[in-house]
Amino acid sequence: MTTELPDFFTVRDHQLWVEGVSLASLAQAHGTPLFVYSQAAMLQALAAYQKGLADRRHQICYAMKANSSLAILQTLVRAGCGLDIVSGGELERALRAGVSPSKVIFSGVGKTRTEMRRALDVGIGCFNVESVAELDVLGEVAHSMGLRAPVSLRVNPNVDAQTHPYISTGLKDNKFGIAHEDVVSTYQRAAAHPGLRVVGIDCHIGSQITQAAPYLDAMDRVLDLVQAIEAGGIRIEHIDFGGGLGINYHGDTPPSADALWQALLAKLDARGYGDRAIFIEPGRSLVGNAGVCLTEVLYLKPGEHKNFCIVDAAMNDLPRPAMYQAYHQIVPVQTPSADTATLTWDVVGPVCESGDWLGRDRPLAVRSGDCLAVLSAGAYCMSMASNYNTRGRAAEVLVSGDRVQVIRERESADDQMRLEKSLS
Ligand SMILES: *Cc1c(COP(=O)(O)O)cnc(C)c1O
Repeated sequence: MTTELPDFFTVRDHQLWVEGVSLASLAQAHGTPLFVYSQAAMLQALAAYQKGLADRRHQICYAMKANSSLAILQTLVRAGCGLDIVSGGELERALRAGVSPSKVIFSGVGKTRTEMRRALDVGIGCFNVESVAELDVLGEVAHSMGLRAPVSLRVNPNVDAQTHPYISTGLKDNKFGIAHEDVVSTYQRAAAHPGLRVVGIDCHIGSQITQAAPYLDAMDRVLDLVQAIEAGGIRIEHIDFGGGLGINYHGDTPPSADALWQALLAKLDARGYGDRAIFIEPGRSLVGNAGVCLTEVLYLKPGEHKNFCIVDAAMNDLPRPAMYQAYHQIVPVQTPSADTATLTWDVVGPVCESGDWLGRDRPLAVRSGDCLAVLSAGAYCMSMASNYNTRGRAAEVLVSGDRVQVIRERESADDQMRLEKSLS
């Protein structure tokens, strides 16, 4: 069995366990595909950020698009997290999870007037605004409600986060953020608007970042901007460095959250901005390695050029390999018997697309009926799941010690058709 298991996942008696529960027993009890999360792993990941920022005014806003299941939001909110949202739907989930609206920040390039109104109504903490056009609309909406919207401008620091182009967001050519050269004038526009109140500045340079250097570069550029904005008499109360810290999928070595923040805070202090409130928006790094997806081997299809291991999870459940050619470790939940030969398999799902694969060229000793665990599946898997091929979305369970809670039932065909109308 593999050696690179995330924290709280262990091998005992030839079985893979999460905290105090065997994964095979969960697959047996709840069926597959099944997402299983360790609550302790999430809380440990959060604690690393809390430790790194302990002696500062700060707010950690979990970027809930990484995994927006209610029980996961509740886990993090009850441990002190705020939430970073990107849609009206996420706002409703956030409220349902019991977060204080003042700890919610609203990111994203395409907020609608309806979403703005609702967010103003409930009193969210900050809008992270991404364009002049959006700023004007937000000002108008807030003013018409007799309010001042708290705003931060997302600036584009134009640093290369050295990650996959689809998940790099801080370069000039990306659709995100306000270009460096337009930032000061846009702050002046915001400060002069009767419907807006400037509270901060933010950036988010990418995702699955495994080095400290891009963050340090971005901080330099953001602080240059803070200096220029404040020279014009506008106070920047909080500085939001976004999310993006990577996790270990397979041989990745990102800095730990507290080590990264030690380096960042040293720079912040050296530049004289140590008194500002620090906001961060981590997503993947809080939940990614807390989850696995369990899947049953349906059929083995050895061939002349390729061996296919067909499993019951697919790209609709776990889209990252198909979407980003992402690598997830795949391991058996029970040590295979000695007489099972190890062959090289492409692990693929039942969806009718050649892009429907979970792993390629994996040495595995498998037989049909075996259960496999796709590791590091806590972030951007369930939250990106779809019903393609009218496949019901997987069930989810949350483990804490030896306690198991079903946090989402498996979706049925009826569930999927509930909103549709038959022809009369
Ligand atoms: C997606 C996103 C995040 C979280 O990114 P991770 O890589 O999951 O940490 C944070 N802020 C914004 C604005 C985002 O779009």
